[in-house]
Amino acid sequence: MIVMKDVYKTYPNGVTAINGISVNIDQGEFVYIVGPSGAGKSTFIKLMYREEKPTKGTIIVNNKNLSELKEKEIPYLRRDIGVVFQDFKLLPKLTVYENVAFALEVIEEPPRNIRKRVMEVLDIVGLKNKARSAPSELSGGEQQRAAIARAIVNRPKILIADEPTGNLDPETSMVIMDTLETINSSGTTILMATHSKSIVNAMKKRVIAIENGIIARDEQRGEYGYEV
Ligand code: ADP
Ligand code: ADP
Repeated sequence: MIVMKDVYKTYPNGVTAINGISVNIDQGEFVYIVGPSGAGKSTFIKLMYREEKPTKGTIIVNNKNLSELKEKEIPYLRRDIGVVFQDFKLLPKLTVYENVAFALEVIEEPPRNIRKRVMEVLDIVGLKNKARSAPSELSGGEQQRAAIARAIVNRPKILIADEPTGNLDPETSMVIMDTLETINSSGTTILMATHSKSIVNAMKKRVIAIENGIIARDEQRGEYGYEV
């Protein structure tokens, strides 16, 4: 599903964020990415959805070799990968429904399918009753669930989450984790970068620890492993 081989990433300013990473992630896995601030977690994640290009090495996502991907093929890669962020990134002037529908409109899904699919995913994240609300009328946890609905509406094979609970209190974070677990149990591969020791230690999933741009640990039923 995701293969990285001898991957390096040096930014134009000379900072080497990824310093030789090889890893395999299978379809259906749930993987936590942990490590100190500045360790390279976000860069590792951005390489997978081609937000950044590696300086060296091979990245294969969903049988597509990203270094051979042409610019015009990037939208197709992005259909296979949903992404959610710490700050949600919802469009403020659109309703929850419109935010989610937008992802289908841009890929020119037939209108009759859009309504059905949008309500389906709003149901999955428990937000059917907020379809007409603006993002500003939602709590942080609801906004993140709306962002998750938008990310999965295309049925991506991979969902990437960069600190999705970073702005949320522990109780709300657990609701987000339940939502992600449901999505994972339907077969979607999930990669989640997080600083939440309590979440990682409670879930007993695969943990990849990145330190100074390399994989310092990769454990199947891992722990967070850092003091907070
Ligand atoms: P993390 O997500 O673990 O905090 P990042 O991948 O964001 O780590 O950053 C790794 C290193 O790369 C840091 O030293 C950071 O300052 C640097 N970095 C991240 N993004 C850029 C960028 N766009 N340009 C230059 N340096 C960057
Ligand atoms: P299918 O038509 O193949 O049954 P679904 O409508 O069930 O597909 O949606 C599959 C996609 O929807 C998953 O890959 C995932 O992105 C998302 N999804 C998330 N959670 C669920 C869930 N509980 N049930 C179904 N699909 C989910």
